[in-house]
Amino acid sequence: MLRLEDVTILQDDFSLRAGLEVARGARVAVIGPSGAGKSTLLGAVAGFVPVAQGRILWAGAEMTGQSPAMRPISVLFQDNNLFPHLSAFDNVALGLRPSLRLGVAERAQVAAALARVGLEGLGTRRPAQLSGGQQSRVALARVVLQGKPLVLLDEPFSALGPALKVEMLHLVAEICRETGATLLMVTHDIADARAIADQTILVADGVAEGPFETAQLLANPPEALRAYLG
Ligand code: ADP
Ligand code: MG
Repeated sequence: MLRLEDVTILQDDFSLRAGLEVARGARVAVIGPSGAGKSTLLGAVAGFVPVAQGRILWAGAEMTGQSPAMRPISVLFQDNNLFPHLSAFDNVALGLRPSLRLGVAERAQVAAALARVGLEGLGTRRPAQLSGGQQSRVALARVVLQGKPLVLLDEPFSALGPALKVEMLHLVAEICRETGATLLMVTHDIADARAIADQTILVADGVAEGPFETAQLLANPPEALRAYLG
């Protein structure tokens, strides 16, 4: 379980409060108006954004104050953070060994991760030699390889067309189901939440609330969400 205990995050004059629990293996969307603090919330969980007050725990162990690398977390950002001068294989391998000095077994792990996302045989290509969808798959292969129990996505795949985006989201959901990973996914698109998240956290007016059952939340939206849905 991911637990945020009376957390307050401050960034200049912006503040966000969060007290919530996400069950292990859940797939949870994070929605709310632009600038409400969705990325800030994920940043705090990942350890990129400091917490002013409260505690963040995974499986009962406190990770508040831990560096991002120490946390049991993989993060996938909007821009895929791929290195343009490295092959797809090396971009994935970085998730395992920043030195890129891999043993035989590790090379096989990287190849398996590439195959899992449908990129078998494309490992030698650089990002510029891949389509946008394939680039997203490289980033996802890195997440697969890391095998961390908590996966955070911040508006992933939004550069892709709608059909490709949905395909990628389903692939993410499938991978999380296979590995048992817990997924938190920021999106501004309600359709994304419907597609892969049974539960949704709402970030609005300085508070992160939930998780709520996605279907119930959308059927009977609170005021903050109604304004946002239009
Ligand atoms: P969202 O992802 O929901 O669009 P963000 O989490 O990016 O919103 O931003 C929430 C608020 O925090 C915004 O008001 C933004 O201006 C502010 N903010 C974001 N990053 C920083 C930062 N590094 N320093 C100060 N304020 C920031
Ligand atoms: Mg954001």
